[in-house]
Amino acid sequence: MTLLTIPFDNSFAQLSEAFYQRQRATPVRDPGVLALNLPLAAELGISGLETPHATAALTGNAQIEGADPIAQAYAGHQFGNFVPQLGDGRAVLLGEVIDRNGKRHDIQLKGSGPTPFSRNGDGRAWLGPVLREYVVSEAMHALGIPTTRALAAMTTGETVQRETGLPGAVLTRVASSHIRVGTFQYFAARKNELALQQLTDYTLARHYPDRSGPLGLLQGVIERQADLIAKWLGVGFIHGVMNTDNCHIAGETIDYGPCAFMDRFHPATVFSSIDRQGRYAYQNQPDIAVWNIAQLATSLLPIIDPDQDKAVEAAKEALDAFSPRFTAAWQDVFRAKLGLTEKEDGDTNLILDLMTLMANEQADFTNTFRALGGGQEADQFANPEAWSIWKTAWTHRLTNEQATTADQHALRQRSNPAFIPRNHRIEQMIQAAVDGDKAPFERLMSALATPYKNQPDAKDLQNPPNPDEEVLRTFCGT
Ligand code: AMP
Ligand code: MG
Repeated sequence: MTLLTIPFDNSFAQLSEAFYQRQRATPVRDPGVLALNLPLAAELGISGLETPHATAALTGNAQIEGADPIAQAYAGHQFGNFVPQLGDGRAVLLGEVIDRNGKRHDIQLKGSGPTPFSRNGDGRAWLGPVLREYVVSEAMHALGIPTTRALAAMTTGETVQRETGLPGAVLTRVASSHIRVGTFQYFAARKNELALQQLTDYTLARHYPDRSGPLGLLQGVIERQADLIAKWLGVGFIHGVMNTDNCHIAGETIDYGPCAFMDRFHPATVFSSIDRQGRYAYQNQPDIAVWNIAQLATSLLPIIDPDQDKAVEAAKEALDAFSPRFTAAWQDVFRAKLGLTEKEDGDTNLILDLMTLMANEQADFTNTFRALGGGQEADQFANPEAWSIWKTAWTHRLTNEQATTADQHALRQRSNPAFIPRNHRIEQMIQAAVDGDKAPFERLMSALATPYKNQPDAKDLQNPPNPDEEVLRTFCGT
């Protein structure tokens, strides 16, 4: 019998027992395949993903040679409130693999049953959030945005009890690691300086081999997070739960709960049903990232300098680097979206003027940017005349560029996606999958694999929702 073969090379599980609890996935009644990511398996040197053994192993019904399953410990600020112990309440890290390019990745099961960190949760996930994460994380990857990936999604044959009974599923998630700001907070809250130092050394070696010391780590996280958030804003992405436990130490997008891409542009847009204050609104995301990194800095203080005044000074100075780094990254992202390769002083205002116009004229974020330079831009605005004033300023700015008109347009076409995973399409895809129809899932995945390409067969997936299709709220849906 052919087996699922994963060339494990585990390092996190070699750290001291303070970092995790050994925990296997809990077997399920009747495992089945929802989705398999064969290209990703090949990149990771994983074989046998299509075998019955893989279906069993990736739900917890069979073991995989070399796996060393653990539930990781972490803490976190959830909506600003500190929770000293969260941890993997419904996930286990099977182990790590090194890909063809020498890069290390975690292989994690999510929805794999209770762990010592489950608190009152059942340790399970249902099919909706599993497919949502599968589609959106793979779409983010295709868009060129750092993210965790999806290797497989399996059904469990069990019912998960939420507001109603729902079909259970398990996601196999791939990440450069699962170290979060909250992992550092866990040890800081316990005043475990030895573990803090170990975690810092481990994280530096794994993610920032060119840097050293806690300040080096802080600088690295600041750069990766600033660049990441700029990219999110560039595609109209709203994460929805930017808690510190969901803030990845190497700047990957992680935890696709109530996340959503905006259709109509408004900077204050919020989707998550639990984000009543709009803490994690589109435009607040850069400020929240700094706030989260400030929590990391606070956790690191004891090992930055024995003199705490000096440590605070140094941490503050490091944090000051976020704002200029983010601004530069944001300008790069949006200049490219307008087709600009050179920098001019008025560019920020030019970009913001377009966004104000879009907000006032109820323009679709994705389609408006994709339309730029195509001649039909005015169609995107409720009041077509409003467009012509901005167009004049933009046209004037474009003439200052060295690049040819064709090159400018090519830059825009690879910076402005035609396809994003729109909320209403995700909801429709989930509903169909619950009813046993995977065709909408396959179709979405296919279009989102090449989001910057025109795909005449998938034009309907570019349309914003009709009023009756519009998704106004998203749910953590744990
Ligand atoms: P999340 O909102 O997915 O980032 O999860 C926040 C925390 O709640 C993490 O510690 C999770 O492991 C835990 N959690 C979420 N859902 C469940 C569940 N169904 N069972 C156990 N723990 C859960
Ligand atoms: Mg989380």
